[in-house]
Amino acid sequence: MPKAYLTIDDSPTAISLNLCRYLKDQNIPAIFYCRGDNIEQHFDDTVEMIRMGFVIGNHGYAHKRAVGLDYEDVVEDISRCEDLIDKAYDAAGVKRPGKYYRFPYLDRGCGAWIVDFDKLPDDIRPIIHDLFADGLYLDDTRPTEALREKKHMLQYWLADKGFTLPFEGVTFPWYQHPQMASALDALYTFSTSDWMLTARHLEKDHPYKTIEDLKGKIDSDPYLFSDKHNNIVLIHDQVELEHVFKALVGHMAASGIEFLPVSSTHQP
Ligand SMILES: [Zn+2]
Repeated sequence: MPKAYLTIDDSPTAISLNLCRYLKDQNIPAIFYCRGDNIEQHFDDTVEMIRMGFVIGNHGYAHKRAVGLDYEDVVEDISRCEDLIDKAYDAAGVKRPGKYYRFPYLDRGCGAWIVDFDKLPDDIRPIIHDLFADGLYLDDTRPTEALREKKHMLQYWLADKGFTLPFEGVTFPWYQHPQMASALDALYTFSTSDWMLTARHLEKDHPYKTIEDLKGKIDSDPYLFSDKHNNIVLIHDQVELEHVFKALVGHMAASGIEFLPVSSTHQP
């Protein structure tokens, strides 16, 4: 049976509790990567999400691209969100299972240069490219030494602060690049591309325009239904997309994908 972790970005919003109730009804666990500014706006809902058994991850305070920020500013942005998450767990009376982070836009400090693309073996590069080309405008231009240094420093900082990855068994050969499997920020192995269905993006020239298109993307993914390797699925918490969220998660569950609870035991 194929297994996957459900990771939900950009929470909390006005619909987060609806999403939680939907997931809870189907016994689907998930991690919500929350923005600090959104936690401030929906603090009580964040507390309720924790009480309902969902895990809160850190998605930065202001959802800014790390490439344009100094190292100190990125650290400050992550820390500010950390404090809010701690407060929410305290208010819920629940012990935090672990510290988990995902960079906004997967910008790990070098913009669209998510991993060292020029160090990827030839057979793997197109797979990683496809994976991250999901609206991220990948650029193969090697970033400056200073940017690469910032990227490494941010990984050291995450390690020093005790961040871990809450996923196990994500063992696709193409995921084994040291900057993916051994990194301390969460990437993904499948993006639902749900964001393409917001009104703003429907006007643009993206390849997916309808829920049926996105179900087709799920059905035709070469890795999502693997029995040997667990997946990390990316979807978003956006007010505009509540029906899309339910349709896509429902479709994955009906297609036989079992969603796994995130764990804090993994030592990268
Ligand atoms: Zn985001």
